[in-house]
Amino acid sequence: MALEKMRIGNAIFTDKFKENEKLYYDLVENGQHPKVLWVGCSDSRVVPEFIVNANAGDLFVIRNIANIIPPKNADEICTSSVLEYAVLHLNVEHIVICGHTGCGGINALIDGTPEDSKIHDWLEHSHSAKETAKGSGTDSLELETIKENILLQAKNLLTFDYIEKRYRKDEIKIHKWLYDMHSGKISFFDEEKQNWYQLN
Ligand SMILES: [Zn+2]
Repeated sequence: MALEKMRIGNAIFTDKFKENEKLYYDLVENGQHPKVLWVGCSDSRVVPEFIVNANAGDLFVIRNIANIIPPKNADEICTSSVLEYAVLHLNVEHIVICGHTGCGGINALIDGTPEDSKIHDWLEHSHSAKETAKGSGTDSLELETIKENILLQAKNLLTFDYIEKRYRKDEIKIHKWLYDMHSGKISFFDEEKQNWYQLN
């Protein structure tokens, strides 16, 4: 998106802002109270607010390559500080880990990246998802790794004591979602049936 397009885009947005003044003023006056922490991929084609038709103030968002949450013992401070703020200060009730089909990060994980790159180091957090997918005998290593990665990152959330505690008390729900770039539809992982089903 070129700069000029963004300039014009802001002019269009400020018109919409005026139309929705009450919403935006409320958010300024009363602060943000999102109920959902969204963990998504940085991919420009997977825009959280678009795909669930959310408004400003609805989602607290962290996006990174391949929607990764390094476990607590990885001592990674960017994602863990977002978790801490969302859970302990905003008291979100839902955490969504949303992966997507055609994820470039996952493809890089499968194909391999130069060992001296930061992307390589980052994707190491998804390494075991690839191994699990390989071991499953799947026809589609890419899709299976994407799915396993979502499950792995959801599991990593529980390495943080304060999340685990709220999860056990049912004060926080963890959702494992997969966005299909071809249809716009989201599938969720059903814990009981151990399978993926469409939301709609
Ligand atoms: Zn991606």
